[in-house]
Amino acid sequence: MIEFDRMSKRYGDTIAVDELSVVIEPGRVTGFLGPNGAGKSTSMRVLLGLDHPTFGRALIGGRRYADLADPLRSVGAHLDAHSVHPGRSARNHLLALARVNRISPRRVDEVLEQVGIAKVARNRTRSFSLGMRQRLGIAAALLGDPEVLVFDEPVNGLDTDGVRWVRHLLRGLAGEGRTVLVSSHLMAEMHQTADHVVVIGRGRVLADCATEELVGRAEDTIVVRSPDPEARDELRRALPGASVTTAEHDPVELHVVGADEHQVGEAAHARGVLLHHLARRAGTLEAGYLRLVQDDIEYAAVPAAGRS
Ligand code: ADP
Repeated sequence: MIEFDRMSKRYGDTIAVDELSVVIEPGRVTGFLGPNGAGKSTSMRVLLGLDHPTFGRALIGGRRYADLADPLRSVGAHLDAHSVHPGRSARNHLLALARVNRISPRRVDEVLEQVGIAKVARNRTRSFSLGMRQRLGIAAALLGDPEVLVFDEPVNGLDTDGVRWVRHLLRGLAGEGRTVLVSSHLMAEMHQTADHVVVIGRGRVLADCATEELVGRAEDTIVVRSPDPEARDELRRALPGASVTTAEHDPVELHVVGADEHQVGEAAHARGVLLHHLARRAGTLEAGYLRLVQDDIEYAAVPAAGRS
């Protein structure tokens, strides 16, 4: 498992991570979420020994990265899709990694197959698309067959098939009992991939719970469509206790939060408002997440000098 124990990281006056204490359990995919600048990458870098904590510890199976006897066999990580030498082929890149870590060359061909780039493995990575680089990074993470896997935004640049492939891969790795920590800003994707989420903001833990629990914190939305603008205004007035907003993509569609479908239907009937559509839309991970991090997003939007 992964453990952050009161881990803090400062860069000058910036507190990137502020006494982060959290345990990432094996056997499930944990989504690592938070607005830009929340401290996700810094936490991952400290965990992987790429940066020193100012205070506290980050442990993999009870040890600091620097104390792992065989790092690549303990933890596989994919942080940056651009960190590969452009003049090297994918296969040579992995062979070099394997050699340094005393891993058999046969394993290189196995992971190339597994991530679906075996056919282009002898090409220089200079010619690789972002999606192919992502797959190569994931192959490197899998090379040592580690129990712990850490991925930073692994689906950026992948097409729909690629995104689905990563989802299955991560779920499969967790299903084998491994510890999988993955950061992403794609909430709909995380909803389908992560069993558990850790949300951080300004370097502190805002939530550490089952994905469904965070989804449950988002209120359901009642979606209604009415063709007549006056009727829509009438409906707004008929629901004084609810928040009624117009959908950005479609002015005919109203989103009602704070009233259920019966109240909306009855209010429309009582005022003679014609409806073409009335449905409940369940809370999403994005809505639950946004509720949690709203203050942090607003904080990030204020220039540092304006902060109290
Ligand atoms: P996230 O990955 O959640 O977007 P980061 O960990 O990249 O967040 O950044 C957290 C905070 O630390 C930000 O305010 C960022 O500007 C700052 N930071 C990160 N790395 C450095 C660095 N090398 N030097 C100075 N500040 C940094």
